Amino acid sequence: MVNIDFALSIGLYSILSIGLIILAWFFGRKQKDKDLSLDPKFIWFCSVCTYTYVQTKDVAFSVCPRCGSYNKRPTEGS
Ligand SMILES: [Zn+2]
Repeated sequence: MVNIDFALSIGLYSILSIGLIILAWFFGRKQKDKDLSLDPKFIWFCSVCTYTYVQTKDVAFSVCPRCGSYNKRPTEGS
């Protein structure tokens, strides 16, 4: 009985350890993905043709790749 309990606790401990490692890896990866994801200020929304596009340059105006019209920065951050 004692041996079984001991084995059981070792097994539970192992499962918990592996679970924690998987959780840490999962959240670490999620955080990395979040860091790699696009900043909302780089996502532009054309007011003329309603086309959504990405402009990674930090500019006040950008040209819509679809209709060629100029758009003002959608959201002024901070
Ligand atoms: Zn447009």
